[in-house]
Amino acid sequence: MTQQMTTYSSTRGASPELSFADVLLSGLAPDGGLYVPTNWPGTISVDPSLPYSAFAAEVMWPFVEGAIPRDTFDALCVDAYGTFTDADVIPIRELSDGIELVELFHGPTLAFKDVAMQMLGRLFDYELAQRGTRTTIVGATSGDTGSAAIEAFRDRENVDIFILHPHERTSQVQRRQMTTVDAPNVYNVAIEGTFDDCQDIVKAMFADVAFRERVKLGAVNSINWARVMAQVVYYHWAVSKSAVVDGQPITVTVPTGNFGNVFAGRVAQRTGAAIDRFVVASNRNDILTQFFTSGSMTIGEVEPSLSPSMDIQVSSNLERLIYELLDNEGTRVAELMAQFRASGEVAFPDEVVTEMTAGWSGESLTDSETLEVIEATYDKDGILLDPHTAVGVGAARRELASKAGSRAKQIVMATAHPAKFPDAVEEATGLRPPLPKHLADLYERKERFEILPNDLSTVQDFVEAQ
Ligand SMILES: *Cc1c(COP(=O)(O)O)cnc(C)c1O
Repeated sequence: MTQQMTTYSSTRGASPELSFADVLLSGLAPDGGLYVPTNWPGTISVDPSLPYSAFAAEVMWPFVEGAIPRDTFDALCVDAYGTFTDADVIPIRELSDGIELVELFHGPTLAFKDVAMQMLGRLFDYELAQRGTRTTIVGATSGDTGSAAIEAFRDRENVDIFILHPHERTSQVQRRQMTTVDAPNVYNVAIEGTFDDCQDIVKAMFADVAFRERVKLGAVNSINWARVMAQVVYYHWAVSKSAVVDGQPITVTVPTGNFGNVFAGRVAQRTGAAIDRFVVASNRNDILTQFFTSGSMTIGEVEPSLSPSMDIQVSSNLERLIYELLDNEGTRVAELMAQFRASGEVAFPDEVVTEMTAGWSGESLTDSETLEVIEATYDKDGILLDPHTAVGVGAARRELASKAGSRAKQIVMATAHPAKFPDAVEEATGLRPPLPKHLADLYERKERFEILPNDLSTVQDFVEAQ
């Protein structure tokens, strides 16, 4: 039998198709688009009694087949999910109103980003070793992505990782999770500037072709297809385990920023997970709520909120859904994205909006509504929610209160551990959630980071000197 190989196409339609391994290492397509499978695999159906790592290998296999031997891939999944502290890896809890919480935060850095990053680190190491080459990963972070990436890539043989964070502008927990990692290939850089300054430096490094080639620059941001792929698994996992009565529809609510997580849910739905609706939950940065209610978006200023990992105006992964809604016409996607970039506004044709609103909706919560959800859930169920998850639970409660939504099973993706955002939890409940055991001494650990000015060439020199 010949081996079947999934290929990937760009959402802007003007880049060659690539294999999984090439998509893994390249991130963004040369035409500025995002990679998606050229043809979707058929129904993926997996035995729900398997342990998470074996379940994960089954779900992801159609996307990676041909790029890596099966036994190697299985071992990689076992290794990646062995870093999670819960015996189930991703446990599911039910609240008293029937909402099911899918706890994605039992990985090393207490946010759902570990689920994908732990896979990504190992996939990179495997593929780079195959090619006999190394890469230098450079990224900017305002919080969760940096620590998840550092934990995933620490001590990997073929990778050096540099994470830029804005000096004195991240939370203590977030900074310490990055700067206390003692590994020879990890470099933390505190830039004297804002998160946007950090991001601009990273973009400029990628735009400097000579530099990019010299240090073999690589990226692990949320547009990387392999991150989406690893997140598809827990949607299948949650649906296969959920306590639905016969024929009961399932609604999944996802606290959303860059749209990577909820798009993974859409991929699960396309590959057979019985999900009827998605609710895209936002904080006061509610551009996605606009999109899913009206089919148009107008960009505004990013406003800080209690759920900082969702303080985003341009959700890069939305492009993958737009590509699908426009029947895979890459040139139309490219036109719309160019228009959005130029004018800060975009509107979709009516037929697209009708189709979209059937399966999707958007909800947003203010900070005070978020605090109320944390308080009410603690009072009723004795469970502490982090502010991101609380936005999701609040949105799901609105669904439950609606006529159409009251029949459905409500599943919410719980994206962070309450101890990662202790200030908001304490404000709502008076309780300060303690860090789990493996991080209990975080405040005593020694920090290592370099403070550099907001200047491209100084940072480039620093990277090259290591
Ligand atoms: C990154 C993050 C989100 C947003 O996820 P996207 O994939 O960007 O939509 C939500 N909650 C937490 C805790 C996060 O770290």
